[in-house]
Amino acid sequence: MYCPFCGANDTKVIDSRLVANGDQVRRRRECLLCEDRFTTFETADLILPRLIKQDGSRQPFDEEKFRAGMLRALEKRPVSLERLEEAVARIKRKLRATGEREVQSLVVGELVMNELKKLDEVAYIRFASVYRRFQDLNEFRKEIDLMASSSANADDDAADQ
Ligand SMILES: [Zn+2]
Repeated sequence: MYCPFCGANDTKVIDSRLVANGDQVRRRRECLLCEDRFTTFETADLILPRLIKQDGSRQPFDEEKFRAGMLRALEKRPVSLERLEEAVARIKRKLRATGEREVQSLVVGELVMNELKKLDEVAYIRFASVYRRFQDLNEFRKEIDLMASSSANADDDAADQ
């Protein structure tokens, strides 16, 4: 790490802490030559696996595009940005935890659907219908039926209390 003030390449870390839910490391550094101090933020984004698309092409994980897709599904739904960011962070953590350099884009789609299912059922259905393009319509119907019956059960539980 080069000193931004004098260009020396001998700097030492004087403080290091996790920020942004543990997804970033904030380091306070001091230049051994001019003794000026500066701060760096390091994220582990670089080690996110690349995505293998269905046609076999590879592309880097694009966090903005990915977040935009989830936001589209959540449009006008009662879900805070904070909860969305938590879901995004969980998905990224799971992707990193695979330890793979490349993963099928389908894997990411499934992770997104799992998170959306927890956040908001409508958003989940919106995403799933676009994502799966109704290719497996029966499976999709089954899924909706399952959700309908589980939320009916939840209503019953609420009525009992
Ligand atoms: Zn310096």
